Amino acid sequence: MIKNNLDFLKEKINNQDIKIVAVSKTQPIELLQEAYDAGVRDFGENKIQEIQEKYELLPADVRWHMIGHLQTNKVKYIVDKVYLIHSVDSEKLASQINKEAQKKNCIVQVLVQVNISGEKSKYGIEPEMTEGFIRKISLNENLRVLGLMTVAPFTENPEDNRIFFRKMKQLYVDIRRKNIDNVNMSVLSMGMTGDYEVAIQEGATVIRVGTGIFGERHYE
Ligand SMILES: *Cc1c(COP(=O)(O)O)cnc(C)c1O
Repeated sequence: MIKNNLDFLKEKINNQDIKIVAVSKTQPIELLQEAYDAGVRDFGENKIQEIQEKYELLPADVRWHMIGHLQTNKVKYIVDKVYLIHSVDSEKLASQINKEAQKKNCIVQVLVQVNISGEKSKYGIEPEMTEGFIRKISLNENLRVLGLMTVAPFTENPEDNRIFFRKMKQLYVDIRRKNIDNVNMSVLSMGMTGDYEVAIQEGATVIRVGTGIFGERHYE
């Protein structure tokens, strides 16, 4: 089943150079293994504890993506386990990541989460503040900013989100042009199961797909 879903997804993406992060939050390890066997190496999780547990159970070549809100006091558990943190949204969090990365002598790759829709319920930096924010956090030597991430509003009609994806691309290009030291703007993470086609049309380089790969989530 997962193999079919992946084939369907790849067909939709149609050879464009887009990375898929398979969002495996709440899914049992058997399904992650099934995806792994079908060739998936990039998995997205939003809870520290789940990353810690699943990290032990899957092969070492898995790239773990932290896509959920991250508490400062829990950073230490995953800095040396994650390939990319998509959800950096405060200076405090960035400096904590840097501090723990220094202790473990590693460089941590991060994206800055942007609240592009302005919804109160959403995490993320305001678009107007994003460049300044990146200039500040890029001074952390063990942290490498690779781009931007956003979670668009939930909607029945993916076209509703086109405007937000377009604004994200514009912001991404504007900041990339500034060539900020220690920043390598090369990743634009946006689009989920319901709206990834629109996100790709507007310039996503990474999409995060959960239910479209694994089916419905298993909340306890
Ligand atoms: C759960 C989640 C996804 C995947 O959502 P689907 O609609 O199941 O594809 C993507 N991004 C984030 C940040 C998520 O929390």
